[in-house]
Amino acid sequence: MYTGNVRDLEGGTTVCPSCREVCIARDGYQILDYRLDASGRCKRCGVAVAGRYAEEVDSFDGRRIPVVIG
Ligand SMILES: [Zn+2]
Repeated sequence: MYTGNVRDLEGGTTVCPSCREVCIARDGYQILDYRLDASGRCKRCGVAVAGRYAEEVDSFDGRRIPVVIG
């Protein structure tokens, strides 16, 4: 099933595993919200948010966020 251009806000959202705060909200390529600190921890409860972004968080400069499509 091809869903390339379908907007899926829910599927592009990263939620803190501890407090369920929305940490990264995406809509396609656009970052709508980003609530992790420089070491990838939830700004609300301080828990490290695991996931495919963990490796890149150390070099996160606040402007570019790696997004894996598919
Ligand atoms: Zn949290």
